[in-house]
Amino acid sequence: MSHKCDFHFPLTTLSEEEQLFFATVRKFAQETIAPAVRTMDDEQRFAPGLVNKLFELGLMGIEIPESLGGAGGSFFDAVLAVEAIATVDPAVAVLVDVQNTLVANALQRWAREEQKAEWLSKLARGTVGAYALSEAGSGSDAFALTTSAEKVNLPHHQPREILPVDRHPCGGYRLNGRKLWISNAREAELFLVFATLDPAVGYRGITAFLVEKGMAGFSVGRKEDKMGIRASSTCELLFDNCVIPAANLLGEEGKGYKIAIETLNEGRIGIGAQMLGLAEGAWAHAAKYAKERRQFGKPIAEFQAVQFALAGMATEIESAKLMVYNAARLKDAGQSYVREAAMCKLFASNVAERVASNCVEIFGGNGFVRDYPAEKYYRDAKIGKIYEGSSNMQLMTIAKQVL
Ligand SMILES: Cc1cc2nc3c(=O)[nH]c(=O)nc-3n(C[C@H](O)[C@H](O)[C@H](O)COP(=O)(O)OP(=O)(O)OC[C@H]3O[C@@H](n4cnc5c(N)ncnc54)[C@H](O)[C@@H]3O)c2cc1C
Repeated sequence: MSHKCDFHFPLTTLSEEEQLFFATVRKFAQETIAPAVRTMDDEQRFAPGLVNKLFELGLMGIEIPESLGGAGGSFFDAVLAVEAIATVDPAVAVLVDVQNTLVANALQRWAREEQKAEWLSKLARGTVGAYALSEAGSGSDAFALTTSAEKVNLPHHQPREILPVDRHPCGGYRLNGRKLWISNAREAELFLVFATLDPAVGYRGITAFLVEKGMAGFSVGRKEDKMGIRASSTCELLFDNCVIPAANLLGEEGKGYKIAIETLNEGRIGIGAQMLGLAEGAWAHAAKYAKERRQFGKPIAEFQAVQFALAGMATEIESAKLMVYNAARLKDAGQSYVREAAMCKLFASNVAERVASNCVEIFGGNGFVRDYPAEKYYRDAKIGKIYEGSSNMQLMTIAKQVL
């Protein structure tokens, strides 16, 4: 059965421009991504040419200024794009999400002008980015990371001009360690890597670096064989005496924890959008199937139990949508959004899991087999409660904010 499905959710809180943008991305997802979903899931890779198409459409540099080759859009636009793509394939949505809400956002906020000129324009024009914080021993406790950075002298990397000491504090840095669970790793050419300059000072030693594919001592390791979002690559990264120039320091030494936290606060809204889109896609398939599937001489959509299930799901989706949109609007308005970001991720991932589970049940036996789209939504939904902070981590953030 096709992964393409008509979509009936009202877009009333969107401006006309935003509605058009959403509809355009949805159309692209329906026409280009839907036919490839099953194969991409089976083969655990994106369809050939798909990543390039995302770049051509401007979906990989949504907030990057037009002067640097980006689309010059808002954070809200990025969230809409992630939602629209996730209605069809949450695995493609996470590629777009990491690129926009984590990597490009971190650079927009923390990069120096020359780094922006180089890397934001590359990110807008064809370079995939990855965000590397987690390690085997540090997941929820992210700042317990052990990947180390050590200052080294690199005479050949000394800047030609005289720069303030805080911009080029030394010749470079040597990275050693291993990152785990890094999304986009197979496709990426730019990696935002968090490492510690001094484990003894705890989170205050954490520093952010820009590591480029092909740098000596850096390699992408094993790819995970996942339950869901299988087309998205999730790999380990290995640093074995990887020496990078000081120019690849992002922000200041010891400020990596701030970059990581602030970026993840935004990223969580993107995951909320991914889970929202997933729920909308699953709901649309369930509703269509319920109208077509006949038992006891009529479509199962005529049984009140099925109607109530679909009505309850639609209500939860509407709530998740308002929460995701509100958090994204707050972010664009420059207002505080930490509480709302955590709440929308927590809530939308619960909704996605429930809706996808109900969707499987409405499909009956067909919900349990791979020829129909229901089971994939169900497998994909689980990740919403795990990455960019588990549901417990969101509850901890919310508790801190509300108490
Ligand atoms: C598909 C996938 C993609 C990912 N992509 C990226 C990426 O691109 N970049 C990146 O840096 N990381 C990425 N991650 C890592 C992800 O962010 C972590 O898996 C996540 O933060 C959870 O960490 P953990 O797996 O170590 O679980 P743990 O931290 O070991 O948590 C296990 C369980 O214990 C609970 N728990 C832990 N501490 C507490 C506490 N104090 N109170 C209550 N409960 C607690 C958690 O809620 C969870 O239920 C990805 C992970 C996956 C699976």
